[in-house]
Amino acid sequence: MTHDDATNRYDDIRDGVRALCAQFPDEYHRRIDTARAYPDEFVKALTEAGWLAAMIPQDFGGSGLGLAEASVIMEEINRSGGNAGACHGQMYNMSTLLRHGSEAQKREYLPKIARGELRLQSMGVTEPTTGTDTTNIRTVAVKKGDHYVVNGQKVWISRIQHSDLMILLARTTPIDEVRKKSEGMSIFIVDLRQALKSGLTIRPIANMVNHETNELFFDDMEIPAENLIGEEGKGFRYILDGLNAERVLIAAECIGDGYWFVDRARRYAGDRIVFGRPIGQNQGVQFPIAEAYIEVEAANLMRWKACKLFDAGQPCGAEANMAKYLAAKASWEAANVCLQSHGGFGFAAEYDIERKFRETRLYQVAPISTNLILSYVAEHVLGLPRSF
Ligand SMILES: Cc1cc2nc3c(=O)[nH]c(=O)nc-3n(C[C@H](O)[C@H](O)[C@H](O)COP(=O)(O)OP(=O)(O)OC[C@H]3O[C@@H](n4cnc5c(N)ncnc54)[C@H](O)[C@@H]3O)c2cc1C
Repeated sequence: MTHDDATNRYDDIRDGVRALCAQFPDEYHRRIDTARAYPDEFVKALTEAGWLAAMIPQDFGGSGLGLAEASVIMEEINRSGGNAGACHGQMYNMSTLLRHGSEAQKREYLPKIARGELRLQSMGVTEPTTGTDTTNIRTVAVKKGDHYVVNGQKVWISRIQHSDLMILLARTTPIDEVRKKSEGMSIFIVDLRQALKSGLTIRPIANMVNHETNELFFDDMEIPAENLIGEEGKGFRYILDGLNAERVLIAAECIGDGYWFVDRARRYAGDRIVFGRPIGQNQGVQFPIAEAYIEVEAANLMRWKACKLFDAGQPCGAEANMAKYLAAKASWEAANVCLQSHGGFGFAAEYDIERKFRETRLYQVAPISTNLILSYVAEHVLGLPRSF
């Protein structure tokens, strides 16, 4: 494998993922979007080719690759016109299980995930009443003998109908009994097939993007005690580790989107003749495309910095957040420019721009909103007073 610092090429991974994605052209993704369906065949093909097991160590049947390589896989999916949002959960959830799961849990789940027998696509953190204020979550898990009993509610939990397992964050010690509000929460592996028989109810949420996401209701749902990941009470810290991986992967997807939009805009602006010349000959059209390209390239540098730190096991909260911020901003600006460059045709579904436009817009809000990144940097990097 090549890793050239100047270009971060990872050519063999790119070639492999591109070849697979080429079997799923624009028409495929458009059809799935129109039908509000799940891209089953595409995700199956990625799983069978081993791409979604990239981060699983070789001892457990995966390829033992790092976050940098995983991010290239996600980038290429979006760059090909697809949407990695249908399957990226497995990558970042994997890093939580890898870093904090017990040997027994890894032996139990990882080989099956690597073989495609189990899917770990879901993570349940967000709640309707607390939103971004995660430490105030109200879902509780109370230990009773050899199991925990869970009660509460989650919202916006994605891919649950296409997953077998979910990583769940719940409070195990009441907030008024802990020193810091970030303590006293724990994470669990929930076997969704069991959970659906014992107290879990799922209600799908119709939304702007073709993204399978749901409300969850827990009514005395039981989880075996051995499904606790790591130590009880330390779940918030573990989730934050996983969130750094998630932010970097989303950044890579936005980079993929950004290149896709720039490429489509560039091609159309070169071909479309109005007033007897290509529209791209007008600086009013070409400058925004050039600017969008510059922004994507710049965001990409922060993405590689974050990958490098994460893979070296070093703190990367600031870089992961900044990469996600820059990349989501760049892809959204590129989306706008691409739409504008296409004039009316940008709105036609058959050009795929309005679909990708909707898809990339999500990343200003999820998995962390832009304001929260700004407040993280203000407080933790610049030392400004905490605002909430
Ligand atoms: C399609 C989709 C899929 C998702 N998938 C998942 C998933 O799989 N698992 C999961 O756990 N969650 C998921 N989420 C939830 C997502 O992480 C949250 O929507 C996001 O973190 C924002 O939380 P919220 O919607 O509650 O907004 P709120 O917290 O209610 O915030 C609303 C707005 O106010 C701003 N705001 C809030 N507080 C402050 C403040 N102190 N200072 C400045 N601005 C502030 C926010 O930035 C935001 O713009 C998903 C969301 C969507 C839309």
